[in-house]
Amino acid sequence: MTGLVTLKEVSKTYTLVTEGDLQVLRDINLQVEVGETIAIMGPSGSGKSTLLNLIGTLDSPTSGSIQILGQALELMSEKELAQFRNQQIGFIFQLHHLLLQLTVLENVLIPTLPAGSSASDLENAKELLHRVGLEDRMDQMPGVLSGGERQRVAVVRALINQPRLILADEPTGSLDASMAEQLVELLVTLNDEQGTGLIMVTHSEALASLMNRVYQLHEGALVLR
Ligand code: ADP
Ligand code: MG
Repeated sequence: MTGLVTLKEVSKTYTLVTEGDLQVLRDINLQVEVGETIAIMGPSGSGKSTLLNLIGTLDSPTSGSIQILGQALELMSEKELAQFRNQQIGFIFQLHHLLLQLTVLENVLIPTLPAGSSASDLENAKELLHRVGLEDRMDQMPGVLSGGERQRVAVVRALINQPRLILADEPTGSLDASMAEQLVELLVTLNDEQGTGLIMVTHSEALASLMNRVYQLHEGALVLR
């Protein structure tokens, strides 16, 4: 069986114009299988978003290799990466990044545009919106929704292309504690139902404890807790 995500000795150094090199990640090894849920914790500035961006193919490591679904990212062209990212990876950020001039349904369908939205995409969108309790809100603009509802729209948008991997970077950072717990429980349930893997960055011990495994970034190393 091919793993979902495999990191081998992954390091990342940013080259700063004035202050020299900043090594953020050192020799990180990580294996994630389909169906698993992983929490990444660590103080602000410890490299959590950097790690998620590397796994999300948005940036590349300084050394080491990353495989997703058995594909080595370093062997793929920019164009292949963009297509792979769009099809296989769903992103959820701290702020929902919804387009305020589009309806909920239109927002959810954005990731389907590159391949040309189909009738089945529309069906899938409606089904997922129903699944997260937003079927009555699909023709509304995001501006009238609560923070928790907007994040649920962002979750549906992340799932719309039926990706194998969900990357969530502090997805509950703008929510109160009870909303945050509801959102993460939803993510865990959908991860199970949709057969994805979930890697979530969080500052909350309580939310991290809902994942299968919890890792901590410490001085550039990823430590299992
Ligand atoms: P976290 O998400 O844990 O708060 P980040 O991964 O965003 O941490 O950042 C880790 C470190 O790398 C920080 O010191 C940050 O300033 C630095 N950093 C992040 N992105 C860049 C970049 N594009 N260029 C230079 N330095 C960066
Ligand atoms: Mg961050």
